[in-house]
Amino acid sequence: MINHLITQKNWKTQLSEAITSIDELLSILQLEAVRENIYVPKHFELRVPRAFVAKMTIGDSEDPLLKQVLPDQQEQIKVTGYVADPLSENTQNPIKGMLHKYQSRVLLTITGACAIHCRYCFRQHFDYSANMPTAEAKEKIIDYITVHTEINEVILSGGDPLNVTNRRLFAWLDTLESLPQLTTIRIHTRLPLVIPERLDDALLTRLSQSRCNIVMVIHCNHANEIDTLTAEHLQRARAAGITLLNQAVLLKGINDSVEVQAQLSQCLFSCGVLPYYLHVLDKVSGAAHFDIDERSSIQLYWSLLAVLPGYLVPKLVRELPNRPFKVPINIYNEY
Ligand SMILES: *Cc1c(COP(=O)(O)O)cnc(C)c1O
Ligand code: SF4
Repeated sequence: MINHLITQKNWKTQLSEAITSIDELLSILQLEAVRENIYVPKHFELRVPRAFVAKMTIGDSEDPLLKQVLPDQQEQIKVTGYVADPLSENTQNPIKGMLHKYQSRVLLTITGACAIHCRYCFRQHFDYSANMPTAEAKEKIIDYITVHTEINEVILSGGDPLNVTNRRLFAWLDTLESLPQLTTIRIHTRLPLVIPERLDDALLTRLSQSRCNIVMVIHCNHANEIDTLTAEHLQRARAAGITLLNQAVLLKGINDSVEVQAQLSQCLFSCGVLPYYLHVLDKVSGAAHFDIDERSSIQLYWSLLAVLPGYLVPKLVRELPNRPFKVPINIYNEY
């Protein structure tokens, strides 16, 4: 714990005071020596809020949280098969800001901004400026959902949908709740791990009053992301009636061991969160150094099945373009 980083500031202040300077980050962590391994691509710079840095260990260049955010010169290496848009999302948005790939669910990217920049992100090359819903697009989205009666769930995504103000978020909720066909509103977010205070009273109260089921899928990759403050906020969200799930990405050198995965599941469960998906890496250019070969992933998964109760084992999946669901990895391949 880095005590001087622990703040009582509200989430917006914390958001605006996120660290974007490599030198500042390395100085806080006393890791000036690793400066030469760093290369920062223009399109995806360093961004990490201080509360997340406070969960890192000083002097440890292998810290699993640091590795998720610290740019690395390996990002420059061009590797065959790793591309800018691995899920062909740029061709699957019939309306700006909306993706309809799976029958009963549509995904809305209500903001391109994230509180944190994760180096493995599959949307790191995504052109958000061309894909934000304008007021006009919002109308079109509503019309689209109304016509597509098979849609019963809307997923708010991004960017990070909790990066927007409560006012803007509540406006989306009001609109969506007015569509009788919708039973569920889902929020995919990393903010509860990055700035736990984002789960403020106003937000939890508003969500608890929704006529829809509210599902929040947090994106936590390592148990170290859950400190006491984070755990408290997650438990409050759970107590407010929100269904809490987690999705993680399997990342080399960060969470690719049975011990780390088992600890993550147990830790999530103690905060009222159930594991949902464990994604193998999307083959996005710049992230090849995080990838794990499929055989090792499957072996890890078998070990996980052996040590955890079934309800704490996430589904091991790969997202593929042009498939109507996240595809389960065939774990019998290696049995
Ligand atoms: C992941 C995803 C969903 C949600 O899939 P679930 O299996 O329901 O979690 C929906 N739409 C898009 C475009 C997605 O990428
Ligand atoms: S929070 Fe999610 S969308 Fe944002 S950079 Fe991280 S992985 Fe990508």
